[in-house]
Amino acid sequence: AFIVLEGGDGVGKSTQAAALVEWLTARGTPHVHTRQPGGTPLGASLRSLVLDPATGDVAPRAEALIYAADKAQHLMQVVEPALAEGLVVVCDRYVDSMIAYQGAGRALDVAEVEQVADWATAGRRPELTILLDAAPGDAVAQIAEKDRLEGAGDEFHRRVRAHFLHLAEAAPERYLVVDARLPITEVTSAITARVEQLLDG
Ligand code: C5P
Repeated sequence: AFIVLEGGDGVGKSTQAAALVEWLTARGTPHVHTRQPGGTPLGASLRSLVLDPATGDVAPRAEALIYAADKAQHLMQVVEPALAEGLVVVCDRYVDSMIAYQGAGRALDVAEVEQVADWATAGRRPELTILLDAAPGDAVAQIAEKDRLEGAGDEFHRRVRAHFLHLAEAAPERYLVVDARLPITEVTSAITARVEQLLDG
């Protein structure tokens, strides 16, 4: 099964991914934990390139293509081989991040960005996307990386959040939306309950 964690900056994706992985380990379910951007050597280079303030302005279409390249590489090198082996893949961010950040956030055409993302990932979509939702000002985790997006402003992050929610509403059977301001253990319980349903169902 392919499980993705999505959400804005600082909503606690890494914390919850780690908790989910711990739960999978405890129950003896073979899995891999990975992330986009950056889950491969090429992806790590692309990630630092695109997030480094020293890179300067990145044109929105260039940014979208860099994230698309990261996704294509990650899918081929990590996600597909793991799924082929029957592992559960837990992935921090995926196509929805690209649609929300580069599409809705950067004000590119959302449908076009979605097409590029789908092409890059050969149409592979997760069985379950866990959306950790919080208003930009309510971010619960430390934002470790001081990157270019710092300057993007609240309006940008509000558009990103709204679009994540929009994507979840369009396909409720493939999403779990959790209020990221709930206590960490409550968020984890909601996630593991839903994942258990997916794996045992
Ligand atoms: O959550 P993570 O650490 O992977 O994200 C790193 C940075 O990249 C964040 O600031 C996030 O907002 C940004 N990002 C982006 N577009 C994406 C994915 C991540 O701007 N498609």
